[in-house]
Amino acid sequence: MVDVLMRDWSDGHVLLTEVESKDLLRKQGLNAVPTKLAATRADAMLLAEDMGLPAVVKIVSPDISHKSDVGGVMVGLKTVAEVGAAYDTIMAAVRQHQPQAQIVGVAVQPLATAGVEVIIGMVRDAQFGPVVMFGLGGILVELLEDVSFGIVPLTRQDAREMIREIKGHPLLGGYRGRPPVDTDYLEQMLLRVSRLAEEHPEIQELDLNPVFAYRQGAVIVDARILVQGALNSA
Ligand code: ADP
Ligand code: MG
Repeated sequence: MVDVLMRDWSDGHVLLTEVESKDLLRKQGLNAVPTKLAATRADAMLLAEDMGLPAVVKIVSPDISHKSDVGGVMVGLKTVAEVGAAYDTIMAAVRQHQPQAQIVGVAVQPLATAGVEVIIGMVRDAQFGPVVMFGLGGILVELLEDVSFGIVPLTRQDAREMIREIKGHPLLGGYRGRPPVDTDYLEQMLLRVSRLAEEHPEIQELDLNPVFAYRQGAVIVDARILVQGALNSA
């Protein structure tokens, strides 16, 4: 049962794992990199072989929300042996950085084709209620805080404007010979996140970072969802 992966914080908030978050997003019709939980080193190797190489392995812990900060992410693992070694490296790094963290296992997933990195988020604002956020990923969003917001429920027009509003918008339209990305698809993703926020009032925060946007379609590479109480599956 998924419940064992969740941890009740003293204030009643629960951080879903990346595996759980992506499962929930898929149910909403959002495209996320296939991601499975491995409890052991051997499981991780089997899963990687099954899901396809090159693989990515990440720590799964309800106490860790920024996995790379604690050495908890290894990408581009080309063989099953590399996956086994990555498991050991990640466990050692995480135990060193955060000895108290409860470790559930690792998430195994195929390496996604690189695309233009964007982020999609949702927060609940005291004044406006649920708000969807869109921005460019990577250092741009951190340095420039180049993001746009839209109030739930988003209309198609809102979603379109959110994408056009960001300063880095030219980067999505094919910059310096790079292919333009599928902004229609990104619009649909924003609308689905808006719907998810409406249908699940218990979701307090959602952070899809990064999403890789392509000439056709886009895929969620990392996801973090914070819920109040338990997730309502109805
Ligand atoms: P964090 O918790 O640190 O945000 P992420 O899951 O976002 O961890 O991984 C860190 C970075 O590793 C991502 O920003 C992305 O560039 C890369 N990455 C993670 N998963 C994949 C994947 N499946 N395919 C390709 N790159 C990935
Ligand atoms: Mg991330």
